[in-house]
Amino acid sequence: MTEASALFSDAKLVIPGGVNSPVRSFSGVGGTPVFIDRAQGAYIYDSLGKRYIDYVGSWGPMILGHAHPDVITAVKQTAEKGLSFGAPTEIETLMAKKICELLPSIDMVRMVSSGTEATMSAIRLARGYAGRDKIVKFEGCYHGHSDSLLVKAGSGALTFGVPSSPGVPAAVAENTITLAYNDSEAVKALFAELGEQIACIIVEPVAGNMNCIPPEPGFLECLRQVCDQYNSVLIFDEVMTGFRVGLTGAQGYYNVKPDLTTLGKVIGGGMPVGAFGGSRKIMEHLAPLGPVYQAGTLSGNPVAMAAGLKTLELITEPGFYQALTGKTEKLVSDLKQRAGLAGIALTTNSVGGMFGLFFTAEQQVSRFAQVMNCDQNLFKRFFHAMLEQGVYLAPSAFEAGFVSAAHSDEDLERTLDIAEAVFKSL
Ligand code: PMP
Repeated sequence: MTEASALFSDAKLVIPGGVNSPVRSFSGVGGTPVFIDRAQGAYIYDSLGKRYIDYVGSWGPMILGHAHPDVITAVKQTAEKGLSFGAPTEIETLMAKKICELLPSIDMVRMVSSGTEATMSAIRLARGYAGRDKIVKFEGCYHGHSDSLLVKAGSGALTFGVPSSPGVPAAVAENTITLAYNDSEAVKALFAELGEQIACIIVEPVAGNMNCIPPEPGFLECLRQVCDQYNSVLIFDEVMTGFRVGLTGAQGYYNVKPDLTTLGKVIGGGMPVGAFGGSRKIMEHLAPLGPVYQAGTLSGNPVAMAAGLKTLELITEPGFYQALTGKTEKLVSDLKQRAGLAGIALTTNSVGGMFGLFFTAEQQVSRFAQVMNCDQNLFKRFFHAMLEQGVYLAPSAFEAGFVSAAHSDEDLERTLDIAEAVFKSL
């Protein structure tokens, strides 16, 4: 049993900032991060054994809740047969078939080990396929930390005030054009001017790295239309939304078909996994079939595939997303109502099992600029008061929250009761 402050001091001696991913350091909210010892179902337990109801879920993967017994069994059984071979295994094909079956836009898929790798590789493939260099992304969207995509990025890049990181060569960044999310007119205007030079658009079909911003009606359709018109590749970055907003991803939820899709988080069930896939016509440009190179020592790792495949099997059970969506909607609507009773202006968004809380008087939040105008200080105070009472929210006003199948009605009620008291104290 060690205090987090001691663990953090020790970690900072040998790990930059004491963390292996910046937002974990709590710099976005101040204070000392919780050091996790273990997790089960909807709960995480810190180094002193204190229990928290967890709405981070490892930033999205833990849709079944932590340490689901069937997933753990699958991992153990697979691990006993060896951890990595660097050669083909049957389970990779089973995983690929499952993804192709669930997402009809995907004919072929390649597994990688993180979301960053998935988006980086999808961008290279889109450029190689289109024979063009320029790419379009949206401000506040985060697609991992590869050079081309770390331009006006969301998530930790936003939390730390470095949306465009030093170290990204200007020559690389100048091929990344950034527009405002949900601004269809800007997209049309850009394509009218430069459409023939644009390899691809990459978009989070529900933005989850500037808090949670759903697409406005017509936005995703507009992206599809301009990509068709100018022969550009439409990439949906579903690393977060894939199997989070529904069984057919955001593409099924909004009924817009991308050319390429990137996946991660849920498809690994908590193991390091990413994937990118799409139409056969494009995917056949990838080595060894085609000239666009991409590879990975641990890609398709058997233990990771076992965790992911078992997770995908379990989320396919009838009624899974109905229940998850119902819980998430109840959580955010009741939070808003209880905030209102305490005189606090709170606006919420949710799609499937992901949600966003905004401390603002605006009735609807659908633009990056609105997110930036929310009351960050109030969020920080809310975050710490909730943490103190045993509710673990994302430690930044720019991240989406996640509900899992393991969150019970009692967990939600307890969260709401704690929040009610916290709202009154703010
Ligand atoms: N794309 C999106 C939409 C993400 O949310 C993230 C991570 N939060 C990534 C890409 C990068 O994934 P990873 O952290 O696994 O590299």
